Amino acid sequence: MSRQRPRISFEYFPPKTEQGKEKLINETTPALNALNPEFFSVTYGAGGSTRDTTLGVVSTIREAGIDVAPHLSFGGDDEDTVAKLLDTYRERGINRLVALRGDMPSGMGGAMQLVYANQLVAFIRERTGDHFNIEVAAYPEIHPEATSYDSDVQYLKGKLDAGANRAITQYFYNVESYFYFLDQCAAAGIDKPIYAGIMPITNYANLSRFSRNCGAEIPRWICKRMESYGNDLESVRKFGIELVTQLCQTLLDNGAPGIHFYTMNQVEPTQEIYNNLGL
Ligand code: FAD
Repeated sequence: MSRQRPRISFEYFPPKTEQGKEKLINETTPALNALNPEFFSVTYGAGGSTRDTTLGVVSTIREAGIDVAPHLSFGGDDEDTVAKLLDTYRERGINRLVALRGDMPSGMGGAMQLVYANQLVAFIRERTGDHFNIEVAAYPEIHPEATSYDSDVQYLKGKLDAGANRAITQYFYNVESYFYFLDQCAAAGIDKPIYAGIMPITNYANLSRFSRNCGAEIPRWICKRMESYGNDLESVRKFGIELVTQLCQTLLDNGAPGIHFYTMNQVEPTQEIYNNLGL
């Protein structure tokens, strides 16, 4: 019996410049769309800081007939503003969302109240019924603010029970953390798919800084290998491709339902990893 093709999706962040947007729309998207993803997604800056740019990128991709999901969080917005944004997305033919609590923008201190993702999911369902397919975030290595492993799993269940359809994980390089997490989720009664979020390694220094904040662990042996390459960027690139290809292959061979690539708005190395997997 042939295996079902895994679900593939690609994540972008909204570019800061017009030139960046043009490249994303005219070069990156056609190249990645040729790989036949189920959808693209576009992140939403902390506190709603990219409200217009996320909407702009999502609308342009949708106009090209491509399925795309904006990420959304309350940020500092009130219910009316979020409801209007939902209406706009609906009018523009968007039927997918990635619903998040998001993080406090730096400098906001305690001035802003974050709305948990389960509350956002409930709000979207209350305002728009079944229109949107909703994805939420999951953390195989556990969210950095979680009070315990089990509470984080329970809060994920809460988001799915509130009406989300699926989850996408934070990136990870410890494959065991993902499969253990799936088992724990199943034991907690979660029966919706949890897609593996995968971060190709493009810039090791940035990745290692970012990972410290978001609670994703880069295993020691990978750090040591990367450090040994120093400024030899070609070796870093080759090792990164090999490593992430193997990670994806192990995930798919062991039943992960699909992969969400954090593309960092680049065709390479996502395309190379995808091709290596023979999908
Ligand atoms: P929640 O699910 O609300 O959880 C946040 C924390 O609170 C967790 O520690 C959880 O254990 C706890 N918790 C959850 N619900 C409750 C509750 N009801 N009561 C008490 N505690 C609770 N960030 C962005 O700024 N923009 C993006 O576009 C973006 N996209 C992302 C996409 C993916 C696939 C992933 C995995 C992450 C993304 N993030 C993004 C990062 C995310 O916003 C942060 O990790 C954020 O800190 C948590 O968001 P969440 O939706 O997982 O929060």
